[in-house]
Amino acid sequence: MYGYAKVAIFSCLVNSALVLAKYYLGETSGSLALKADAVHSFADVISSLTIFLGIIIADRKTKTFPEGLYKVENLVAFFSSFFIFYAAYEIASQAIWETFPGGITNVVLVTAGLVLIMGVTAVFSRYELKIGLEVGSPSLVADAKHVSTDILASSVILFGILGTYWGYPIDRYIAMLVAALVAYTGAQIMIEAVKVLLEATLDYPTLDGIRKILENQDHVKKILSIGGRNSGRFKFVEISLSTDLKLLSEAHERTSEIEEEILDMYPSIDKVLIHYEPEQKEVELIAAPLNVAEGDTPDDKSELSQHFGETPYFAIIERSSSLKTVSIKSYQNNAFKDLDRKKGVKTAEMLAELDVDEVRTPITLEGKGSGYALDALQIRIVMTPAKTLEELITELKQELG
Ligand SMILES: [Zn+2]
Repeated sequence: MYGYAKVAIFSCLVNSALVLAKYYLGETSGSLALKADAVHSFADVISSLTIFLGIIIADRKTKTFPEGLYKVENLVAFFSSFFIFYAAYEIASQAIWETFPGGITNVVLVTAGLVLIMGVTAVFSRYELKIGLEVGSPSLVADAKHVSTDILASSVILFGILGTYWGYPIDRYIAMLVAALVAYTGAQIMIEAVKVLLEATLDYPTLDGIRKILENQDHVKKILSIGGRNSGRFKFVEISLSTDLKLLSEAHERTSEIEEEILDMYPSIDKVLIHYEPEQKEVELIAAPLNVAEGDTPDDKSELSQHFGETPYFAIIERSSSLKTVSIKSYQNNAFKDLDRKKGVKTAEMLAELDVDEVRTPITLEGKGSGYALDALQIRIVMTPAKTLEELITELKQELG
């Protein structure tokens, strides 16, 4: 799991512990403000939870991810906000109408408990802020900054508890303030949820700006799609590109450059996901391993080889999808066939240098060094039932229709 998903789930756990601690201290002391604050921490759990789910969803790289699931956590948040409003109303009406049995009990325990709670929240928020800034996640940073509001609320509550204990019954007024804070948090959760449920995605100028950044990259041949998604407060962009880059390592490097540029330009975005699709070329080169006896020369009657790295020759076939032609371009001698080690990898690299797009072979290369090397070099591996080069040419022609 990614660092910031861990922080978000940690935030849920810390807030859940605070709900229990505040409720318990509120009960033992008789402080209404403290019980109100327990509800407020519950609202914080809900908002941390939507951030966490947003991160998890953004990390799932499957394109087939059902759209509907993006909204589950927002629906949960939406319904939770009603509960939060109801709780705020309950607290406020108790604070206004109820005649109190009296002062505060267990004042030492409650004071110690509140000081401990403030300490824990302060330490956690500094940690969350540090990670949020490190990974550049605005929603984690916002969550961390919210915690300072919580510490302020706790200190006002402590002030009210001590005042009430010493004969100035202000706890109920502070409970009203906290009820207002709870209602405000609930409203924020509701607004965020409604925005997502009503399909408010990234705005048009942002998407357009991202398009311009992509168009300035010379390795990007075509922008297939740009999608903005919100998941609660968590915002991410999903981009699909076609590229002429052959090397995966190079694509990775360019990907992080693009990500950085987008995140610098649009600081409200939490995460950028880029998928590459290999460019669909008009003319493709297909390599087929040939079994040619020593001293013989390869021709279209040659058999396809049951080996890859050890094969003496490759037929390099050119296929044009627009002209609908298939022709033998050349026969490539395999200089690596007698190597002791890594001949499969070296052979794959040789084919990549020749700009080969696909290898047709009668044998599977799955789980073999050569198979991994071809994958890494973004060369397709296709199996064929053909026995000879001639049969293979017929097969390729049939595929063109
Ligand atoms: Zn809070």
